[in-house]
Amino acid sequence: MDKILLLAHTQEDGSLPKGAYESLNAALRLAADLGGAALTVGLIGKDVQAAADSLAACGAASILAVTGEDFADSRYSSDAAAVTTLVKQAAPTLVIAPTSSRFSRCLPGAAYRCDGRIETHITGIKVADGAIQVQRWYYRQRMVATLSRAHRPWFLVIDSGVFEPWQGAAGSANVQTLDVAIGDDCRRTKVIGVESPGSDAQTIRPDAKLLFVAGAGWAKKQLDGQLHIKQAEGLILDFINGSKASLGSSKSLVDQSGEGQETLGFMTHLNQIGQTGATPRHPKGLSTCCHGEEPHVVGWRFVKERRAVNLDANCGWARGKADVVYVADAFEVMQKVNALLGA
Ligand SMILES: Cc1cc2nc3c(=O)[nH]c(=O)nc-3n(C[C@H](O)[C@H](O)[C@H](O)COP(=O)(O)OP(=O)(O)OC[C@H]3O[C@@H](n4cnc5c(N)ncnc54)[C@H](O)[C@@H]3O)c2cc1C
Repeated sequence: MDKILLLAHTQEDGSLPKGAYESLNAALRLAADLGGAALTVGLIGKDVQAAADSLAACGAASILAVTGEDFADSRYSSDAAAVTTLVKQAAPTLVIAPTSSRFSRCLPGAAYRCDGRIETHITGIKVADGAIQVQRWYYRQRMVATLSRAHRPWFLVIDSGVFEPWQGAAGSANVQTLDVAIGDDCRRTKVIGVESPGSDAQTIRPDAKLLFVAGAGWAKKQLDGQLHIKQAEGLILDFINGSKASLGSSKSLVDQSGEGQETLGFMTHLNQIGQTGATPRHPKGLSTCCHGEEPHVVGWRFVKERRAVNLDANCGWARGKADVVYVADAFEVMQKVNALLGA
């Protein structure tokens, strides 16, 4: 009989990230599909009681934890030791965890220490013909593969936005704390602070409800024959900050900044959506001044509802790639939208 261990780590405030609840939902669904596999939860953090309480009603057989100052921050040596201890105690056949930079750093090494195998960036799990099959994408999201393995324990690291987050009432959870001895060699790496970009520059928001894409049209000569880059910057930033949408770009627009042309100052290659860019998962997307060519639109494959604003009624979006195309000047449209947002 399979045994599942769900791993999660706390955030700075002691709560669990959304991905942890999504992975819990994945673990519960898999446990049911396997005919009632036992579920254990393993938590890592400075103090995990509040996190454990939030999962009290999930039906886990037990909640294990590795806690203390040494486990407050992301650090390969202490996190790998914590995960190894949790896996050895729970003795699972399957280990499920959310994708986070913290887990992406430590789980491959921990899987090796546990003589396990690991699959990352999982986008689907099912049980078919008695075997567990997982799905992931390869080669820059161009090929999807379905995999199965006989080796156990099998670590499955789930991408965010694939499963709905588990929801249940908080309660009072019993937590069994495990001892993990950390030597001074482990403590050589210390987190001394976090450097994050200013709020204006922080435009990539994976959990946003809306993806707003700016294409190269924003940096092109407009109907009056002039460039309007500063106005474009203002309209886009006002919309992003007002709506809390995530900002994406076409390749053409981000390439312009690399080539030293005058362009939108806050746009980098990290914003690029498409075949050679990102493939984010947002419920809705709005494309502006972007032609909607296939190498760009392929990055929209997980965006459920798509709209585009383009002057060209014959642009790529109008050829079945968007649900709604507004044939209009994006400068005028976004000015109006921002005014409505402000109101
Ligand atoms: C191997 C390969 C990989 C690639 N990978 C990617 C990728 O990952 N991502 C990506 O984006 N591209 C990628 N491309 C490039 C892609 O094919 C296109 O060249 C690119 O997406 C075009 O960007 P764009 O639509 O912003 O610019 P353009 O094609 O220049 O389109 C600008 C659009 O803006 C519109 N416009 C202008 N002014 C206004 C206005 N005022 N209001 C409304 N609309 C206006 C115009 O009508 C036009 O449709 C790749 C290409 C190759 C060959």
